[in-house]
Amino acid sequence: MSKQTHAFQAEVAQLLHLVTHSLYSNREIFLRELISNASDACDKLRFEALNNTALYEDAPDLQVRLSFDQAAKTLTITDNGIGMTAQEAIDHLGTIAKSGTKDFVSKLSGDQKSDAQLIGQFGVGFYSGFIVAEKITVETRRAGTAAAEGVRWISGGTGDFEVETITRAERGTSVILHLREEAMEYANTWKLKEIVGKYADHISLPILMEKEEWQDGELIDPSNEEAGRKPGGMLKTGEWETINKASALWTRPKKDISDEQYADFYKQISRDFEAPLTWTHNRVEGSTEYTQLLYIPSKAPQDLWNRDKKAGIKLYVKRVFIMDEAEALMPSYLRFVKGVVDSADLPLNVSRELLQESRDVKAIREGCTKRVLSMLEDLAKHDKAPESTEGVTDVLSEEDKAKQGQYSKFYAEFGAVLKEGLGEDFANKDRLSKLLRFASTTSDTASVSFADYKARMKEGQDAIYYITADTLAAAKNSPQLEVFKKKGIEVLLMTDRVDEWALNFVHEFDGTPLQSVAKGAFDLGKLQDEEEKKAAEDAAETFKPVLAKLKEALKDKAEDVRVTSRLVDSPACLVVTDDGMSMQLARMLKQAGQQAPEVKPVLEVNPEHALVKKLDGSVHFHDLAHILFDQALLAEGGLPADPAAYVKRVNALLS
Ligand code: ADP
Repeated sequence: MSKQTHAFQAEVAQLLHLVTHSLYSNREIFLRELISNASDACDKLRFEALNNTALYEDAPDLQVRLSFDQAAKTLTITDNGIGMTAQEAIDHLGTIAKSGTKDFVSKLSGDQKSDAQLIGQFGVGFYSGFIVAEKITVETRRAGTAAAEGVRWISGGTGDFEVETITRAERGTSVILHLREEAMEYANTWKLKEIVGKYADHISLPILMEKEEWQDGELIDPSNEEAGRKPGGMLKTGEWETINKASALWTRPKKDISDEQYADFYKQISRDFEAPLTWTHNRVEGSTEYTQLLYIPSKAPQDLWNRDKKAGIKLYVKRVFIMDEAEALMPSYLRFVKGVVDSADLPLNVSRELLQESRDVKAIREGCTKRVLSMLEDLAKHDKAPESTEGVTDVLSEEDKAKQGQYSKFYAEFGAVLKEGLGEDFANKDRLSKLLRFASTTSDTASVSFADYKARMKEGQDAIYYITADTLAAAKNSPQLEVFKKKGIEVLLMTDRVDEWALNFVHEFDGTPLQSVAKGAFDLGKLQDEEEKKAAEDAAETFKPVLAKLKEALKDKAEDVRVTSRLVDSPACLVVTDDGMSMQLARMLKQAGQQAPEVKPVLEVNPEHALVKKLDGSVHFHDLAHILFDQALLAEGGLPADPAAYVKRVNALLS
């Protein structure tokens, strides 16, 4: 075939015009696109060669070679992949076949500025070469065809291209970019190595460049050889070296990867010095295909609480690096997870905006979330407390032993963030609530699950009792717990700031309601015997006149005043109504500078307490009433509205 001229398909011409005329803020991506094409071409050859090994000819090692010639102003990307026939070159490099790119072209408005933004969101593949080249020559030969059936394709990136037959000994494709003057920086070994390191380190195909060596120049002093020589230029050595790592760890089978290699890779991508706690590595097949390699770090980062912090997931498309911190791939409450997702379906030039909308991405996020939860469930399952087997550690399986303490370790670092998921991820709420752990009146460490709690519930107990407070000490000593301690009923102690908020989304566990011991009227139901109930009713009756006076004295502070059998040692405590916001949450909101409704608590008094008994007929009734209220507030970590007045009243009584 002698030289023929073909016109580009209209859309291609449009695209080319845009590529060459829009200022590409990120023009180095041309190399990523061309290397990716080369890598695809090698994948295709490998696939076809499964049934026809002759296609390998005498070069079975698939590779990409980068070379440049500063004098000729060319940069060449050569692969020994499948190559193209003349017709394929005409079809593939002259038209746009991909629906995504067509879509893109149909969206072009003609307005240069907005079109330039669009272009960043879509892959332009081969044509991106024209960002840096004023002319592109492609020389190619399809694997399996004769040397005489090579093709040369040339275009200046305007309306048309030329094709002619050439003789080409090697199969595969060379894309020769005739660099624009202002793109000569790419004819440089360091520059190319840098870009390859950034985008193509994990392409499993080796990318080679010719080694260069410093050459000595002329003698510094021609009359004195001893003085040495001036530095000469770099000289190509004829020896080729691989410049990418050529190993995408996540594409290798699990069984071929050692724990140490997994840990090293984690350190590399996370910049963490410590080994990860655990990881999961899977190839997911189905309507959306991707590989996930996800790690849970051992330690929380400093900025864990910054909800704007981006997720630690790197996105690759077919081993080509696309972006860091792909927040669309992981829900915010799992922002501590680090790792890699490699998708086979997303376009190379996918943007963050596009990620948010993509259905594939949604499927990937759901898949990754499930995987992380399974990983945590597995850790939790094997993290058996030694006392649960009564000290007989032999009962623990090998796996239990290996994973002993890991879930508690995880929970201490990330448990509080995980709780955000209760409000964020309704689909996984049940799984998440099973993963929660709390301190309780029987355990100082956060190790009690709702299920553990339920298993230990008393006969006749029909609620899971909990209390929220700022600190463990405040929770443990709060007056509301007194009767529970007396009766030996376990109460969960919740001291994470996020607990109050998270509990808004969890009202029950496995059919058992959650009940705050600081909310609503005191009712232990079947846990109280008839005698106790009768005594409480009697006390309420005889106490009525005092209650009325207390109510009057505290009308600005307390919603109501009533007697309670909740208390044993303390004279009084505060509770809120069932549907009221807890005092602690109201305080937290205020501290955070947010609008919080004024919470008027209910003052509950213990009719058995000496101080309360003294109230009736006391000349100090008014002061005592206020002290009772303010002390109850102090006991639960609050502050009296007027601390000075409180001090004055106490001092008056003391003296
Ligand atoms: P995409 O690769 O996204 O399909 P491109 O514009 O980058 O779009 O390339 C168009 C087509 O040209 C490819 O699908 C492929 O068939 C062919 N092609 C491009 N580069 C090569 C190459 N190095 N070897 C073989 N075929 C290639």
